[in-house]
Amino acid sequence: MTAPNPHEHAPDTTLHVGGASPYDVVVGHHLAGYLPDMVAGALRVAVICAESLVELAQQFAEPLLEGHEVTVLAIPEGEDAKTAEVAVECWEALGEEGFTRSDVVVTFGGGATTDLGGFVAASWLRGVKVVHVPTTLLAMVDAAVGGKTGINTGAGKNLVGAFHEPGGVLCDLALLETLPREELIAGLGEVVKCGFIADPEILRLVREHDADELTPGSEVLRELVERAIRVKIDVVVADLKETGGVDGHPGREALNYGHTLAHAIERAEDYGIRHGEAVAIGCVFVAELAGRAGLLDAATVAAHRELFGKVGLPTTYDAAPFEDLLATMRVDKKSRGAQLRFIVLTEVGRPAVLAGPDEEHLRASYAALAGVSG
Ligand code: NAD
Repeated sequence: MTAPNPHEHAPDTTLHVGGASPYDVVVGHHLAGYLPDMVAGALRVAVICAESLVELAQQFAEPLLEGHEVTVLAIPEGEDAKTAEVAVECWEALGEEGFTRSDVVVTFGGGATTDLGGFVAASWLRGVKVVHVPTTLLAMVDAAVGGKTGINTGAGKNLVGAFHEPGGVLCDLALLETLPREELIAGLGEVVKCGFIADPEILRLVREHDADELTPGSEVLRELVERAIRVKIDVVVADLKETGGVDGHPGREALNYGHTLAHAIERAEDYGIRHGEAVAIGCVFVAELAGRAGLLDAATVAAHRELFGKVGLPTTYDAAPFEDLLATMRVDKKSRGAQLRFIVLTEVGRPAVLAGPDEEHLRASYAALAGVSG
């Protein structure tokens, strides 16, 4: 797929996602020109975006105005959008617009918007096409790719949802210009994680560039984004429904590297910590754990602190009692039965499952997070 690129950046990159419902992920700058092709065949297009992004979304959707009835559905900011009530409001709006099975939902926003909008698209008429335009780094490298959609309930985060592959994804790095710096840095948590589980080149790029070089217009950020998306695509295509990997690879569960402790910390902090920040801490923790279990060498354990720290993410934590975190980890939906399971590395690029780790190793690894350096 090609579209005019009148700006000075390198040509756009199209990453193809195979599987039963193949689609393209385009990475570049100023990608609105791709939208008409991606919604081809639709008469109506509903653009779902947070209140604060309505103007930006309207500008982005301008190429659709000729030939389509475009409606913008404004939803609450961030996590407040991921509720059953907001989903109902969107369904009602689609009903009023007379939305048919050949019409298309476009999500424009962070992971909360792609999750909610993806879920609305998955459920309206049992599934209409959705095109994601992620506007946070986290949504570009993680939430928009892979087909997971969902909302939160009283019982917890992301407990209701559906697998619904998008019809296309536009990762327009120019949209990151307005993103607060802390949100960009938080997104780098998932990028560095991808480096550790699958792509040492990501780690080399992070090691060789200062954090302030990682700006939305920089070629290095673009390469990091493309590489992280490739990692996600490869893992997801090999294990579409999270049923498991082959040849000892944990499959899609590998993307959960660092996430077991991260989820527990997010909960202990009442979601007052950014996901990518919690993931950085969680990855340092599992590296320590793998080191203690004799699975990972000391230099790679140290590299976790070095590289998450280098992009500006936290690598120390002691704010919650370990017993509380342990209790939460035991009921994490990724645990099976009462046995704790962690994705660990045996070396960079080689994830594995560590089930039922030694409790002393767990405690010592947590203690090692408390403000030590190296
Ligand atoms: P977010 O969607 O909550 O967005 C954070 C804030 O940034 C919001 O207020 C948003 O309006 C604002 N924002 C977004 N883009 C902006 C821009 N370009 N300029 C200025 N402000 C902007 O946060 P997030 O980190 O993108 O996503 C987190 C969500 O993603 C969580 O709900 C998580 O569960 C979900 N997620 C889903 C998957 C998946 O596979 N489906 C993977 C990872 C995360």
